[in-house]
Amino acid sequence: MAELLFREDPYLASCEATVLAVHENTVELDRTVFYPLGGGQLGDTGRLGDWRVVDTRKSGESVLHMLEPDAKVSIGDRVQLQLDWERRHRLMRFHTALHLLGSVVKAPVTGGRIGDDKAHLDFDIEMDKLVKDAIEARLNELTSTSIQTKALWITDAELDARPDLVRTMSVAPPRGEGRVRLLEIPGVDLQACGGTHVKDTAEIGRLVVQRIRSEGKRNKRVTLAFA
Ligand SMILES: [Zn+2]
Repeated sequence: MAELLFREDPYLASCEATVLAVHENTVELDRTVFYPLGGGQLGDTGRLGDWRVVDTRKSGESVLHMLEPDAKVSIGDRVQLQLDWERRHRLMRFHTALHLLGSVVKAPVTGGRIGDDKAHLDFDIEMDKLVKDAIEARLNELTSTSIQTKALWITDAELDARPDLVRTMSVAPPRGEGRVRLLEIPGVDLQACGGTHVKDTAEIGRLVVQRIRSEGKRNKRVTLAFA
């Protein structure tokens, strides 16, 4: 299994790695800075040596770097990895913003997604409890304050004893390694999450609530964008 460098340092935009396996258009490495699609967050893009990485996916325990057609890579190659950092940083800002949103709206989260230009959470709540201006104002209060985020690790058993740490029912944190990572935004949010986050809430910048829409009886979708 590849060493997942983004877990310890989400700000690492490049690294060297060795090719362990080559499938049709995908490559497995001994280590990577590329986050694979999961937990509602898109897979990273960038470069692997001379080639474009067009997406990153998980397959079981493996991270598959999906290369542009005609890419030529061999097992044993030493390659330089380079993230599309601007895009990844935007995803990190959105991802952290969704943690803030989850704390501002007091309701169970039923789903979520982080895209290139917007991000949303779905809540099990009545429509009239979602007030756009109030949500936006509170979010921007939090992003205009510098709050340092913290990653912590706990065991699977500790997590089982604290079901309140898993707010997003449909996006369960990665398990099976005996430990699970938590993201803490002190005074705001604490939950199990395997994604990538910014280190300071001020780094998110100003947000707008782009839309609030009903997506079904138990899904009221709040969509955020950058101002
Ligand atoms: Zn997260």
